[in-house]
Amino acid sequence: MCGIVGYIGRKEAYPILIKGLQRLEYRGYDSAGLALISEQSQLNVYKAKGKVADLEAYCSEKDISGYVGIAHTRWATHGEPSSVNAHPHFSASGRLALIHNGIIENYQTLKDKLSKRGIAFRSATDTEVLVQLIEYIMISNNLELLEAVQVALHQVIGAYAIAILDRNHPDTIICARQSSPLVVGLGSDGSFYLASDASPIAEYTDQVVYLNDGDIAVLQEGETLHVVNIDNVTQHPKVKQIDVTLGQLEKGGYPYFMLKEIFEQPGCLRDCMRGRINADRDKITLSAVIDFREKLVSARRIIIVGCGTSWHAGLIGKQLFESLCRIPVEVEYASEFRYREPVIFPDDVVIAISQSGETADTLAAIELARKSGAFVFGICNAIGASIPRQTSTGVYIHVGPEIGVASTKAFTGQVTVLSMLALTLANERHTISEEMYKEMVVELTQIPDKMEQALKTNEQIERLAPIFTYAKNCLYLGRGYNYPVALEGALKLKEISYIHAEGYPAAEMKHGPIALIDSEMPVFVIATRDKLYEKVISNIQEVRARGGRVTALVTEGDERITQIADHVIELPDTLECFQPLMVSIPLQLLAYHIAVCKGKDVDRPRNLAKSVTVE
Ligand code: GLU
Repeated sequence: MCGIVGYIGRKEAYPILIKGLQRLEYRGYDSAGLALISEQSQLNVYKAKGKVADLEAYCSEKDISGYVGIAHTRWATHGEPSSVNAHPHFSASGRLALIHNGIIENYQTLKDKLSKRGIAFRSATDTEVLVQLIEYIMISNNLELLEAVQVALHQVIGAYAIAILDRNHPDTIICARQSSPLVVGLGSDGSFYLASDASPIAEYTDQVVYLNDGDIAVLQEGETLHVVNIDNVTQHPKVKQIDVTLGQLEKGGYPYFMLKEIFEQPGCLRDCMRGRINADRDKITLSAVIDFREKLVSARRIIIVGCGTSWHAGLIGKQLFESLCRIPVEVEYASEFRYREPVIFPDDVVIAISQSGETADTLAAIELARKSGAFVFGICNAIGASIPRQTSTGVYIHVGPEIGVASTKAFTGQVTVLSMLALTLANERHTISEEMYKEMVVELTQIPDKMEQALKTNEQIERLAPIFTYAKNCLYLGRGYNYPVALEGALKLKEISYIHAEGYPAAEMKHGPIALIDSEMPVFVIATRDKLYEKVISNIQEVRARGGRVTALVTEGDERITQIADHVIELPDTLECFQPLMVSIPLQLLAYHIAVCKGKDVDRPRNLAKSVTVE
């Protein structure tokens, strides 16, 4: 959510900042801005509502000189999206400029105090309070900027990643983090890069430091990175090597990242399984399970926490763990779990799922679980993010950076990891036979090839998509393992085409949603051949009997549903528990093509942020 970029070095900062903001656009935002210290030591701030391109247009006739700068894409939490509320925000004297990702929860109390002391506010944001507070503390106590930042951050409650420029110290950027991600890139020429994730940094350096909560970093060209905490104790963060390649950050000939990422899935899942499933395809080895075998194998209960798409993956995980491992599972929205006083036992295993590894609610749920003594296992994509660092152990999904806001490959990666984990625990707990284990491992390794087949439905779906653009509402039905996929399919459509869609367990339809069905309501039914196949056929008949128009996702060669559905999309057969991996493909493609037909910006859906780092 929102993005921070910074640069200090010997190159012109402006192009680096703009390119960095473009790389972070996928995170979602509503306005953008930047601050540069010019060659004449002027602090120039430019802001615009809208896209980074609007900011660029605005800057086209401005002084954009300077070797030091910070830039921001804002996803408004306090104050409407507008150029006034866009960051950077100035201090009262105009000496400091600050950008912020997160929320200052006690901003109103701080604002009231500062207002009483005569400070006037220009914006409606919580962020401006912070920069005003820092300057107020600096001036009234005659402190250096770093000291004032430390005092101010002691008073702040909330989440932040911030970066500050000081006109009086044009050789320095000060940045800090608490519950919002921030990465510092170390250039080989003494320069520093700063960003919310590694993507704006990757083309300049592969040496990075992921700041920890409480860290305050001082960046000065040619100096070593100086990191302290709010009590001024020096910190020694580790320098890490990033493994994001430029190719992974580009669209590679596809019109949208989302389509690229849909098509990448077979390769992504091969990467996800690489090194974890052996060449003979009869053994899964997850190092997290080797290291913590006892904890995991003897889990009395599993609680899965996540938000959005990750929560849907969790629902599939529940069925996998319950049917294969015979471990009871609860799946929780992290945002509910964290505030609900849940009962957590020390022998529970809490699995936290998050693509970005920075989801604020999931992080809070992890903290709660840890405090209750539970063992916490993370399933994340972004390497080195907060969740992998705060969990006892975990598994990366290794599907590469996901740029499209609507999650696709991260979802199938999460389901693949959950499948590998469930199979491993089932094998260790002897809840499935050795034969069944091997058969399932072999089948899992065949999923990427079958996905390639499933992707061939793209042309058919592209042809079908215009039929659905008129719809105001759509219904997605599925049962068993495919019920969470129906939820996920509906979510995809809502996110990028703005058509209202609901996912429902097919048999539950008659307890309510059936009342909505008429010839105007497209109904997408997941009707692959599994143990509930006959039941789903009856559900399709119920829809047909009320004039509903059915598009069914069926197993290759299905003849019965072809006769009763308006449209069928055929998919390769696989084991029931792996069908979500197959069925997700046409549902992603459907949402994509419908949104494209409606002229929507698929990669940047309105109001949405890629990683939700605020609660
Ligand atoms: N809370 C701040 C605002 O509304 C920052 C939001 C963000 O993370 O972009 O301006």
